[in-house]
Parts: sequence; structure tokens; C-alpha cells
Amino acid sequence: MDELTQQRDDKLTDIHRGQEESACELKAQKLGLNYINLAHVPVERDSLHFIPKEEAERIRAIVILKKGQTLKLGAVEPANEETKQVAERLKSQGFNIEIFMISISSFKKALDEFKFLPSQIKGASTSGEISLEKIEILKKELATFANLKTKLSQVNQTDTSALLEIFLSAALTLEVSDIHVEPQENQTQIRFRLDGVLQDAGTVIKTVYESVLSRIKLLSGLRLNVKDVPQDGRFTIKEDGAEVEVRVSILPGAYGEYIVLRILNPNAIKLNIKDLGFRDYLWQKLEPEIKKPSGIILVTGPTGSGKTTTLYAFLKHLNQPGIKIITLEDPIEYHLQGIDQSQVEPEKGYTFAQGLRSILRQDPNIILVGEIRDEETADVALHAALTGHLVFSTLHTNDAIGAIPRFLDLNAKSQILASALNAAIGQRLVRKLCSSCKAPADGDDVEKIKKNLSDIPENIIPKEITVYKKVGCEKCGGTGYKGRIGIYEVVFVSDSLEKLIATNPSHQDILTEAKKNGFITMFQDGLLRVLEGETTLEEISRVTSSNV
Ligand SMILES: [Zn+2]
Repeated sequence: MDELTQQRDDKLTDIHRGQEESACELKAQKLGLNYINLAHVPVERDSLHFIPKEEAERIRAIVILKKGQTLKLGAVEPANEETKQVAERLKSQGFNIEIFMISISSFKKALDEFKFLPSQIKGASTSGEISLEKIEILKKELATFANLKTKLSQVNQTDTSALLEIFLSAALTLEVSDIHVEPQENQTQIRFRLDGVLQDAGTVIKTVYESVLSRIKLLSGLRLNVKDVPQDGRFTIKEDGAEVEVRVSILPGAYGEYIVLRILNPNAIKLNIKDLGFRDYLWQKLEPEIKKPSGIILVTGPTGSGKTTTLYAFLKHLNQPGIKIITLEDPIEYHLQGIDQSQVEPEKGYTFAQGLRSILRQDPNIILVGEIRDEETADVALHAALTGHLVFSTLHTNDAIGAIPRFLDLNAKSQILASALNAAIGQRLVRKLCSSCKAPADGDDVEKIKKNLSDIPENIIPKEITVYKKVGCEKCGGTGYKGRIGIYEVVFVSDSLEKLIATNPSHQDILTEAKKNGFITMFQDGLLRVLEGETTLEEISRVTSSNV
């Protein structure tokens, strides 16, 4: 095209544009609407994300400007049903909406602005790649839970591209174990599981949610266009030289797909016995049991009570060149050096029972069986324990004593169980009071607490009682707690208890007998922590469902 032709075409375009705008303005007047010509008014790029590009293209409407809580919406067809719905959606997010009629040319010009936005907001066309550099910078900004909340509230207005990096930085700095992204009717709720408790981290708008969903799906190799079936995936990031695995679970819901990210950070897992929280008197009795050459040790408690960590710490404690340790897990949560770990695959017939049989042919000294939940596994595990192997496993029972009736329910012969069982451990994780902000409490509960400790040896009760209450500061995200510790109860199988087990005893019978041997319940173990000012009665009651 030569210069003259170009000039002529431009001229024609100008005339055409002029006519188009006049027609649009007239139409707006007739409908009693505001009109705006975007040839003269710039579109604010930061406002574009309120309507995702695909949707904007479809309904030919765009957010031109955000002023305070007011959004100026430009629409080619303001009366269109879908346009009205989008306006309603934005209203429900707390915005006032001013609608302007725009010409098709104005709309096309505004739509062009999308190409200047960070790629993530465009949705499915991103690579999804994580910026480790960004994570490192963000980690410094997100050193407290309060900062994270502020950061998330800013995301809606500014840099939507970094949301995943914000999530991951927070997870690493604050030792968040899970990130929950829950789309609701009008917005998406973000919650973080911190020290076992879900904490509200704010909400994000739909476009931000969609952008992060696409990135997560791309990163973990999930199908972007599949939205109606659950999907599971994973990806890894590097932190301080360690591979941090992120397990992704996506579940279809009423208002979009729920996302849960589980962060498996090997730097965060504490595998030293002293970090677990066994009291000295208890560990002195327990250590000889886990060092026996054979028998079975059971750890009980609900999901998230720290059973796996306890067992890993035991294995690490026992691991030495002369001993062969094999595990059978579902799934392998952390890789332990010098230990052969395997994972069950029930769909391929590699179940706990099958796997245990195979493992026994590998001539191990110590076996970890992730969980015992069927008769066959219970049977093989008991026989392994009676034939020169030390077996560790978990059971989903409420308390340590419950392990015995549960095993009997699984058709274990009571005599076999009685001679195979070394110890049954019950445990919970309680949040520790934040040492930066805890304050002395009035001690009103001390007498009641002591009453609940009347049947335990005097020398175990702390001499100096210092009860504290939670306060909340920047360091603990305002929760008043920081970090967790285990509370425990252990049933040791004494000669008298062995005889009792052989008679198919009830829960109460076992408790009475265990008490004679100095059994302290995990509730009592927790109360001792309260008297030492490490946690609160409220926290112990929460995790044990017991009260003074
Ligand atoms: Zn604090």
C-alpha cells in the first residue's frame, strides 16, 4: 500500500468512525444511557481483569475504569442478558456499577489492551511456570501471617499474576501445610492450614481464581478443559536445596473447582525424638520397647495427628548399617535415607497384605506398615511380629487402649495379640503458645486441672506452675499459637496386661489394668503442658474432646 492510498484509507476510516460514534451516541440517548467514546478516553489496564478476556469478547463488555468502589462498565449491548448478569456479579462483589454504551470500534480498542496484561490473566494460554525468584522476594514480605492477608487483599486490585507464588511463599515461610481455594457464588475463599487449623486468608475475585486454577493445572499436568471430574496431580519446587513436593487435588463444586495444595516440605518435618514431645518418664519406658528385636508397636489417632512423623522419627532413631528397615506406605510422604520405602498400589493388587508378604521375603529386621485396616493385614503383621521382626503400624482408633479391641475386631486371636504387642501409642498434636506474645493467665482452672491429675505420680506434676493465655501478635498471625507438639498416652503390655488381653477384655477393663501400671492419658499429658505454660486448656480440650 502506497502512502497516498494509506492516507485515503485513514480518512475514510475517520469518516466511518465518526458516523459510527454518532449513531452509538444517538442510540444511547434513546435508551437513556451514558455514552463514551474510547477513542478519546483511555482504558485503565488494571481494571480489565474484572471480566476475563474470553467472557469480555463474548458479551462485548469491558470494565473501563475503577474509581474507589465504582466500576465503569463499557458495553456494546447494555441490555443483553449476559451483560446484565456480569453487572450483577460485579455488584455482588461489592462494587457500584456505572454502565456506558460504547461502539464496536471502542470495544475493539479496549479489548486490544488485554495484550499488555501479564500473561496469567489471559487464562489458559499461560505456561504456568513458577518463578522461584519471585518466591524468594515474596518470602521476605510474607514473614508474618498478617502480611499474607494484606498481600492477598491487594491481589484483587494489582498483580494477579503472582498469586501462586504468594501461596507458595507463605506456605514455605509460615510452614503452612495446606492451601485451600474454594470458589463460592460470588468470590473465592482462600484458607491456609496452619499448625493443623484452617485460617481465613481472605477472598479473591473470579478472574484471579481462574488464572491460578489454570496455572496449577498446567504445572501439575492436569487437563485444563476438564472441569467436571476430580483430578490429582503434583509438582515440585526447590527450597534451600530441598525438593518440596506440592500435591494437587481438584474437585468439581457448585461454583467452580475446589483446589487443595498440600505442601510436603522436608525442611519443615522434624524427625528428632526430642522434637516429638514425649516426656522424659514416658520416653524412658518407650525407648526399650521400640528397641526390642521383635513385636508390634501401634500408633493410633485420627488423620493429621502426627502418626507418620512419630513413626518416621522412630525409624530414623533405629536406623543403622546392621539393621534392614523396609516400609510399605500409602503414600510415601518423605524419603528417609538408608531405608527401603515402598508404596502400596491396590489397583495393581499390591495391597498392604500382599506387600507385607513380599517384604517378609526381603529378610528385614524392622517393618513399617502404613496402616492396618483389614483382617488379612492384621494377621500377617502379627505373625511377622511373632517371628523375629519388629513391626510398626498405625490404626484409626480414638485412643491407645482402643487399639486392642480393634485388633480383636479384626479377628486377631487374643493370645497371639497378647504376646505380639509391645506397646500401643495414642497421640494428638496441640498448638504451642506463641512465645513472643503469650501472657500470664489468672490460673482459675489450675485447681480443676490438678483434680484431673490426682491419679498420676506426684513427681510428674511440675513443681512450678505457670499458666499462660494466648494473645496474638504479628509473629503468630494473630492466632496466639506457633508450632505444635505431640501429647501422648502409651499402653505398655505388662505381664498382667498380657494375661488380661488373652481374655478378650473390654475397653474399661484394659484402662483399669493400665492405670495400675501408671498409665497417663493423653488428656492428662496435655494438662501437664498447660501447667508448664506451653499450651492452653482450650487447645487440649479442642484436640482431645475432653474437658476438666
Ligand atoms: Zn504471637
